[in-house]
Amino acid sequence: MTKVNSTPLILNGRHLADEVLNNISNEINLLKSKNKRIPGLAVVLVGDNPASLTYVNNKEKTSKKIGIYSEVHKLAVNVSETELIKQVKLLNNNKNIDGILVQLPLPAHIKSDKVIEQLDPNKDVDGLHPYNLGKLFSGQDCLVPCTPLGIMEILKHYSINLSGIHTVVIGRSTLVGKPLAALLLGKNATVTIAHSKTENIESVSRTADILISAVGKAKLIKSSWVKNDAIVIDVGINKVYENGISKSVGDVDFENVKSVCKAITPVPGGVGPMTIAMLMANTLKAYKKND
Ligand code: NAP
Repeated sequence: MTKVNSTPLILNGRHLADEVLNNISNEINLLKSKNKRIPGLAVVLVGDNPASLTYVNNKEKTSKKIGIYSEVHKLAVNVSETELIKQVKLLNNNKNIDGILVQLPLPAHIKSDKVIEQLDPNKDVDGLHPYNLGKLFSGQDCLVPCTPLGIMEILKHYSINLSGIHTVVIGRSTLVGKPLAALLLGKNATVTIAHSKTENIESVSRTADILISAVGKAKLIKSSWVKNDAIVIDVGINKVYENGISKSVGDVDFENVKSVCKAITPVPGGVGPMTIAMLMANTLKAYKKND
């Protein structure tokens, strides 16, 4: 593939997330100065999956940093579905809690769908309740899943035009790929969703003006998958060991792809920080609606 750019624009999600969090923090300080109740976020964690623990700790740390009231409910790995739903219902009725997030994945004996359906849709800050997903797909205002929302904010911040633009989203999960496709369509992008069964996926990817990968496979996307001057958004978070050291990399082979694309999100420092920032934004949005 012809080299068109040796230094693509780095789409800095960390800086943007700091800006978003700073604005939320200012709003909360204003609420405090008026002696108003502050927004509250509850995270429910089942078991002790190390990745989930890290995510939950980050969410709690960020909440506290910007002044959001935060509760973490840690339940044993063998908790029953009934007990978990009971906890969710308690939080639904808790007036100090505006946002509830059940950290996924849940252990195999619990049906995630069944638990998510019990959330009060107005407190569903992960945007995964069928009510919110239905609203999203019918183009109505709702709580939108945080990662797709964060990606849309990055595209907006960098004034990336979407109207009529061919976007290929690799990955069709309910958490990322599908809601992202709906959001992109809402901005008049032409959207192709690719997945593990897509034939000739490399050539499909190469047709993208904007290529978004949400797969979970380190270095899947090589320069041969990327059109010259395309914009690349890397959602993947993959743990790899290099020289005995564990680190996080995306789905995109960054060193290989950076010579071809016009702009790219790094991992870490791209979509990840925006996901947490959007969780805080959704909590504030839920607060405003619920208060
Ligand atoms: P997921 O539910 O496992 O979905 C992965 C998707 O990738 C599926 O649609 C799957 O296709 C597709 N896929 C798997 N192998 C493929 C291949 N070789 N070629 C093309 N498509 C393939 O994962 P997810 O929850 O959407 O997350 C995806 C990645 O994003 C993970 O690395 C996750 O850690 C990361 N993530 C990051 C953030 C963040 O804040 N940055 C947030 C959420 C997730 P099928 O449907 O056909 O199986």
